[in-house]
Amino acid sequence: MLLKSNTDSKNDHQGEMRKKMKLPVYMDNHATTAVDPEVFQTMAPYFTEIFGNASSRNHEYGWTAEAAVEKARAQIAALIGASEKEIVFTSGATESDNLALIGTAEMLKEKGNHIITTQVEHKAILDTCHYLETKGFEVTYLPVDQYGRVSAEQIAKEIHAKTILVSVIYANNEIGTINPIGAIGKLCKEKGVLFHTDAVQAAGKIDIDVQALGIDLLSLSAHKMYGPKGVGALYVRRRNPRVRLSPMIHGGGHERGMRSGTLNVPGIVGFGKAAEIAKKVLVTECDRVKKLRDRLWEKIQSELDEVYLNGHATERLTGNLNVSFAFVEGESLMMGIKDIAVSSGSACTSASLEPSYVLRAIGVGEDLAHTSIRFGLGRFTTEEEVDYVAKRVIETAKKLRHLSPLYELVKEGVDLKSIQWTGHH
Ligand SMILES: *Cc1c(COP(=O)(O)O)cnc(C)c1O
Repeated sequence: MLLKSNTDSKNDHQGEMRKKMKLPVYMDNHATTAVDPEVFQTMAPYFTEIFGNASSRNHEYGWTAEAAVEKARAQIAALIGASEKEIVFTSGATESDNLALIGTAEMLKEKGNHIITTQVEHKAILDTCHYLETKGFEVTYLPVDQYGRVSAEQIAKEIHAKTILVSVIYANNEIGTINPIGAIGKLCKEKGVLFHTDAVQAAGKIDIDVQALGIDLLSLSAHKMYGPKGVGALYVRRRNPRVRLSPMIHGGGHERGMRSGTLNVPGIVGFGKAAEIAKKVLVTECDRVKKLRDRLWEKIQSELDEVYLNGHATERLTGNLNVSFAFVEGESLMMGIKDIAVSSGSACTSASLEPSYVLRAIGVGEDLAHTSIRFGLGRFTTEEEVDYVAKRVIETAKKLRHLSPLYELVKEGVDLKSIQWTGHH
């Protein structure tokens, strides 16, 4: 039962989640995470007994709900070194990213119309930037290096008098690469330009301090850190400088006018608890997950040649492993490992399989991109699961390579580049 309460309930619950291997093995923690049982337990009463509207000022129901929201606000602020008043609740990081970009653009349109971002942002940033371009804003999409990083120097070259905002993803959701956020924050401070970061994948996994890093706006999502779906937050700096945003949603003036709408109290309570747990276990979990991730990668490398790591070897999220399996047909590989829940380097667009734009941006060729798999390990990943996944991926890749004439040629020592190909690709 989830609602039992004994002193070790937390460990019991997490232990319970990790106890028994279940198929398909879940290794897609960048897409979403399971709600931590302790988070769920904390949320539960707010659906039923404690159902008040946090903006009801006249009675106990409202006050209790408001107090719970304020506690969550403090828990989330503590995770990133902010103060409570700097946290604006949203419906998720897609909304937070929209509010950061559109809200800043609208507010500062008299000052300038230029925004700098990167080619490897989440779609919530890229699509919002494309929208802003239709409204007269100019956006620079910076290329990244072979590991998926931008540098402060690159950004410095692009900042000019009309630049109002820089937005750089903290840790990439596909390849796990971590950007030099502190250096970029420092640069933006020197230049007097606002700095936003999408920290959805970094939060709870990397020690974030918005003060030390010079971050003005930061997006978070509960469901990427063992909280519920449909709730997120935007950190909005209150001093040095005080950041002001134009709201996108109007009606009632909630969240200090930046985001109207009745607050999702159970979701926010869960988000707060998730942030508190994440802060508490950050170091130990980071270490535990890294060991598992390294174990997976070592096993794969010891049994398969022609496998390539995408992203940075060390400046990377500990739960991320993104690998290209050369000479393996990507779709067949995914079909062959249906007992493992992972993401591939291909995105299904309306008509075709497109290689991931992130992999393309770091120079991974189209063929190799289609053979790429993102393994996302998390809080509930076990060693047993890692060993199972390694075994299944290795045997499937070997089987497919056995069927690959190209792989046979390479093994016979033929240099593929020397072959005169006929026909077209
Ligand atoms: C998941 C994700 C988002 C979107 O968050 P939602 O809360 O699902 O809207 C934005 N940015 C990154 C990097 C993500 O991984």
